[in-house]
Amino acid sequence: MTSAHDLRTTGDILIVDDQPENLQLLLDTLSRQSYELRRVLSGQLAIQVAQFDPPDLILLDIRMPDMDGYEVCRQLKTNKRTRDIPVIFLSALDDPVDKVKAFDVGGADYVSKPFQVPEVLARVRHQLQIRQLQRQAEEQQQQLQRRAQALEMANQELEFFSSSASHDLTAPLRGLQSLSEVLIEDYGDRLDELGQTYLHRIRSTAIEMDLLLKTLLDYSRMSRTEFSVGPVSLQAVVANTLQTLRSTIESSGADIEVQPDLPSVVGFSLILERVASNLLTNALKYVEPGSFPRVYIGAERKQQTVRWFFQDSGIGISEDDQARIFKPFERLHGSESYPGTGFGLAIVQRGITQLGGYCGVESELGKGSRFWIELRTSDLG
Ligand code: ADP
Repeated sequence: MTSAHDLRTTGDILIVDDQPENLQLLLDTLSRQSYELRRVLSGQLAIQVAQFDPPDLILLDIRMPDMDGYEVCRQLKTNKRTRDIPVIFLSALDDPVDKVKAFDVGGADYVSKPFQVPEVLARVRHQLQIRQLQRQAEEQQQQLQRRAQALEMANQELEFFSSSASHDLTAPLRGLQSLSEVLIEDYGDRLDELGQTYLHRIRSTAIEMDLLLKTLLDYSRMSRTEFSVGPVSLQAVVANTLQTLRSTIESSGADIEVQPDLPSVVGFSLILERVASNLLTNALKYVEPGSFPRVYIGAERKQQTVRWFFQDSGIGISEDDQARIFKPFERLHGSESYPGTGFGLAIVQRGITQLGGYCGVESELGKGSRFWIELRTSDLG
């Protein structure tokens, strides 16, 4: 990266003065400093030259017969090709700079006669350096934009690849699953105990893979879902989710309490139901073996935001693990103890990010967890 010290002290300077002999001393000094100098005698010409081949800096006399320096500067600043060229106004002794006007029309600096040559040189160098830094910043910005576009495209391709791969793998996997079932039913008794165990393992692996593919598809669909945000009642979202998960809740023997006056947020109900369903499923699943899940679903309003939360009395999560569980495939437990794909919380995070919100967890090992979602309130009253 270039530092201010590396910046060149050369540059292409356009000098505009109807009486160039006035500036002879200054011009001589500048050309000795290895600046490239171009000189024009009128404002009109200066505008044409600057448009045709923009210089790095313009030194502009204020008093000129046809068009004065202020007007030249004003016109330069209205043109896209010339508006970023810094302009330093020059003025004669008997014609003091109207400083306010000079800056109003877009001037970067001014110097008046009698010129203190070292001071003028310092000001010229300063403006050229600023211009160069600006150019570097613009280039970096363009580079960043190009990189962001490339990343976005790569991301889309990856999404497309993962979703089509998951989709295409589903059919053969289902075939494997049903063939292993037929094998168990029709030929299972011809196998010894070990053979039967292997066969059952083939079937359960196929079922696990099927679930994983379904979740992968869900995850990639989530980012491609077309939606428009609007007011959504969390009360309704929770009621629908409880209805959808009714049999899972019943078989878990869970005790679920819902805050009666859940507020509304700015969101999209299908995404919020997916989020609620994943958080509730986890709250029911991650409990000590043999104990019954207890879940409280509530919300707190804080100025313009609503913090919606799912509090459970399950096994909890250590502080070190809390950030990583929101990433795809991250699981803290083996499938033998708690089955899953490691995608539930990734789906939660992706969905909430799409809605412009935030999510997180507060938890302690053995003391339960509180998963929270922050979204804008739709109730601005
Ligand atoms: P999955 O449940 O399919 O494994 P998730 O992305 O939903 O995937 O969760 C990631 C991991 O975070 C889980 O494997 C589990 O270890 C941990 N986890 C999620 N929710 C809870 C919870 N309510 N209590 C304790 N641990 C949890």
